[in-house]
Amino acid sequence: MKVDEALDLIAEIPDFPEPGILFRDLTPLFGDPAAFATVIDALGDVVGPDADVLAAVEARGFVLAAAVGYARGLGVALVRKPGKLPSVAARVDYALEYGTATLELPEGSLRAGQRVAVVDDVLATGGTVEATAKLVEGAGARVSGVAVVLELAALGGRARLAGLPVTALRTC
Ligand code: IMP
Repeated sequence: MKVDEALDLIAEIPDFPEPGILFRDLTPLFGDPAAFATVIDALGDVVGPDADVLAAVEARGFVLAAAVGYARGLGVALVRKPGKLPSVAARVDYALEYGTATLELPEGSLRAGQRVAVVDDVLATGGTVEATAKLVEGAGARVSGVAVVLELAALGGRARLAGLPVTALRTC
């Protein structure tokens, strides 16, 4: 299957989670074995050859990064929403359009000097990846690249992440 054909399965849901927001729903893509394999292979190709480990944000990022990590022979640092971890190495609070969110890095998931590729489903404002990058850098590691399935260009994530190499399988 071609990558574009797989990405065409992504559904557009108007007015979710709030009126005026067009939500991109990857559920049909995750549920289609050929499309899922195609997207995992494509993400695996854009995770640079120099990455030592992947970092992924709960929850859809986990699904993608687990499969990419298996395909590429890389482990995954599981960046979590708050309150799930027995041992937190670092915590970052960041602003959402309305309110704030927090992400936590588990103790022992990254080592100083590692090159980390961040994998996620959607890049929107870039706040989530920026917060993940702060956790990575706080561990003494560095972000070698950012690989996402979909980039929502109008929300400016790429500019916010200036300096980080961002690759999206599709930009819309
Ligand atoms: P950002 O922090 O604004 O870049 O938002 C990115 C995060 O929110 C990612 O972890 C996505 O899972 C989620 N997200 C934002 N917009 C969408 C969407 O339209 N569909 C699915 N996930 C989204």
